Amino acid sequence: MRITAITLLLVLQGALPAAAAQRSILLLAPTASDARLEASHEAISHWNAMLADLGVETRLGTPQVVVESPVARALENYARRISQRIFRLPAGAAEPRPPDELTSLDADIVVLLSRQDIMSFTWPMPKVDPPRYFVVIRSVRSPDRDDAMVSRHVVAHELGHAIGLVHNADPHALMCGPCQPLTAESDATGFLPLTDLDRVRLVELHGGR
Ligand SMILES: [Zn+2]
Repeated sequence: MRITAITLLLVLQGALPAAAAQRSILLLAPTASDARLEASHEAISHWNAMLADLGVETRLGTPQVVVESPVARALENYARRISQRIFRLPAGAAEPRPPDELTSLDADIVVLLSRQDIMSFTWPMPKVDPPRYFVVIRSVRSPDRDDAMVSRHVVAHELGHAIGLVHNADPHALMCGPCQPLTAESDATGFLPLTDLDRVRLVELHGGR
């Protein structure tokens, strides 16, 4: 029995990093031609390159894309309710219960490319362990390229929250809050840079070299 227990422990220890290493992503889009789909794929690739560069094992999985999902309406309603109260929520306040349509989805990170012109945000699903996140990306306000660039940064920024990063004071960094992305310089990757503190935090949270 003791050997079995030790073996089980070793199996669990071996399995834990692997299980934690890949965050599955479900990407819900209103149409197959939505420009934010490409932005999302780019942001995910960018994150995986940054995580690899940090020696962190965590990766964002290849997203499962669903167009015109039947649960989109319920998720849009929930997104609107959250966005309306996101600045007014005191810590620990009662918050709207996530709909079953959201909690029953099988993904660590659910990204809704919203039809609404609301604030983009990342929301940890309450009382869910291990943590899962609901990421909402606002509709693109204008078809010009500038806004598409903003949405690319917005997706990368929100996914940064979903892997544990918080805002920093640098308005030109990826995890800026508040942000001034229109005046910010992208680095060679085409994205806004991480700060040194972001890098330290990622290694602390996910383990690195
Ligand atoms: Zn943010």
